[in-house]
Amino acid sequence: LLELKNVYKIYGDLHALDDVSLKVEKGEWVSIMGPSGSGKSTMMNIIGCMDKPSKGEVLLDGVDISKESKKNLTNIRRDKIGLIFQQFHLVNYLTAVENVMLAQYYHSIPDEKEALEALDRVGLADRAKHLPSQLSGGEQQRVCVARALINYPEIVLADEPTGNLDEANEEVVVDLFHKLHDDGTTLIVVTHDPEVAEVAQRTLVLRSGKLSKEVVNENFTGKIRFD
Ligand code: ATP
Ligand code: MG
Repeated sequence: LLELKNVYKIYGDLHALDDVSLKVEKGEWVSIMGPSGSGKSTMMNIIGCMDKPSKGEVLLDGVDISKESKKNLTNIRRDKIGLIFQQFHLVNYLTAVENVMLAQYYHSIPDEKEALEALDRVGLADRAKHLPSQLSGGEQQRVCVARALINYPEIVLADEPTGNLDEANEEVVVDLFHKLHDDGTTLIVVTHDPEVAEVAQRTLVLRSGKLSKEVVNENFTGKIRFD
């Protein structure tokens, strides 16, 4: 599904990504860990079609996205990728359901019923008309998960999704990841939290832009779908 081949991202004399190669199969759940500044967000931005590598290939469904135009990248992102961030990036003056519909807007005609169903999937059906300021942090992040899910993406990329959440809300978000995984969605999750990382099938560790280690979770209980 996804393959990085000798990917570099170079800023001046800084190698934010330094010869990174990796493969992620369809339906896999992978965690990315590593110290601050090790290149985690840089890698997620490249996989998420928001940035291009300085060198190397990024194959998504066999297509080298590092060679695509900006416009094509936007289309690929819209069709295949759901994004979840640490900062929720919700629009303050739109309600929960309107925030979810925004993601649809780029894809098709916004459909409130579908947006409400997505909110229902994250357990927020009764908060649809609330503004972000009227929601708790955990609820806001669940709106973001609903927004990421609305177009049924093949891959969900989450960059520190629980960084702003307390433990109870962290569990709610991790439970949602379990559901996504059960539905066959590919998950790539950047986290500083070992408890969030270790629920994945394997954890990759980045150090100074290089993949330094891979830990396979022997206890992983979820189903794996390879095609
Ligand atoms: P954190 O855990 O703090 O989020 P990270 O692993 O996500 O860290 P990145 O955001 O990927 O780290 O940054 C990797 C390195 O690249 C850092 O040293 C950062 O300063 C540098 N960097 C990122 N974006 C740019 C940019 N646009 N221009 C120059 N340097 C950049
Ligand atoms: Mg980061």
